[in-house]
Amino acid sequence: MEYRRLPKGNENISVLGLGTSSMGASGEKECQEIMSMALENGINYFDMASADAEPFPAFGRAVEGMRDRVYFQIHFGADYKTGKYGWTTRLDQIKRSVDWQLRSLKTDYIDFGFIHCIDEEGDLQKVMENGVLDYMKELKKDGVIRHIGMSSHTPSVVYKMLDTGLLDMLMFSINPAYDYRHGEYAIGSVDERMALYRRCEAEQVGIFVMKAFSAGQLLNAKTSPFRRALTEYQCIQYALDKPGVVTVLPGVRTREDLKRILGFVDAPAEEKDYSVLETFTPQEAEGICVYCNHCQPCPAGLDVGLINKYYDLAKAGDKLAVDHYRNLEKKASDCIGCGHCDSRCPFHVDQTGRMKEIAEYFGI
Ligand code: SF4
Ligand code: SF4
Repeated sequence: MEYRRLPKGNENISVLGLGTSSMGASGEKECQEIMSMALENGINYFDMASADAEPFPAFGRAVEGMRDRVYFQIHFGADYKTGKYGWTTRLDQIKRSVDWQLRSLKTDYIDFGFIHCIDEEGDLQKVMENGVLDYMKELKKDGVIRHIGMSSHTPSVVYKMLDTGLLDMLMFSINPAYDYRHGEYAIGSVDERMALYRRCEAEQVGIFVMKAFSAGQLLNAKTSPFRRALTEYQCIQYALDKPGVVTVLPGVRTREDLKRILGFVDAPAEEKDYSVLETFTPQEAEGICVYCNHCQPCPAGLDVGLINKYYDLAKAGDKLAVDHYRNLEKKASDCIGCGHCDSRCPFHVDQTGRMKEIAEYFGI
């Protein structure tokens, strides 16, 4: 398992986390078994926005004696009063729900507290003014919440929240369908979405990815907006290659699902290669490097994807990216202009031209 460090924190988080949205239907016993299996296989991050109440007591039992090995992502706005998920922005309901979640999980602290599912500016305004955000800030001051995050599908709403400087993490829906303007949550243009990922990386806000398979639509040719199925591994790799991304949180229902997802860790590169997207790329995304490294190997030893990522981040104001670039062993100025990457790139990036541009930008 690969781990990525939370930029504003010391937590090393497994690149595969676990979503609990549809797990409850399998019953508490299976939820507990799933949790134990996930821990045995190096997963340490668990999103608790579930459709049902079942995972909470089940996870509470599964982590007894090893709470310090686990990170829980708790949503302020998910309510389980009826045994099923409900959404709320009311402070009294949120307080009651969070108390219940903590009791069920047998814990007295929250690793990652999320303002839950805010897609409209009006709802953001509400949680900022009705005491929910103040309540979370208070809990953070008291050490009950370690980090504050937010989940949303709407870039413009996230931008407003980023402006406050309060976020350590963002839970956001990233997949090729939404990024290429297909689907219910395909909010924002290709550029706007990429700019959001870059801003998060530049401001050291870790992105935790939800809906990596577009609620399963991308896995089936009949429901895929591209009329062609992608695999889970392609979608996971696609999300992990985006700037700012720390972990991907696929939802699993059973241990069988988990076993299949865990196969990603040792899967060969060709099973994760998503260059097939080239055929679906809309015109506005043509010629834009997505850092996939499908064009490797470069005969001059350049990490083409990483160089491009640092360049885009540096242009977006990320000062750390400038340092990262300067520390690279091979830089854009080492490009010998052989054109191998141009001919291999499925997204028709003029990479030889871009390497000249990058070398000029950094002066090296
Ligand atoms: S140049 Fe093309 S193949 Fe190479 S990393 Fe960029 S998008 Fe991928
Ligand atoms: S053109 Fe430059 S970056 Fe691309 S493969 Fe050749 S040497 Fe590497």
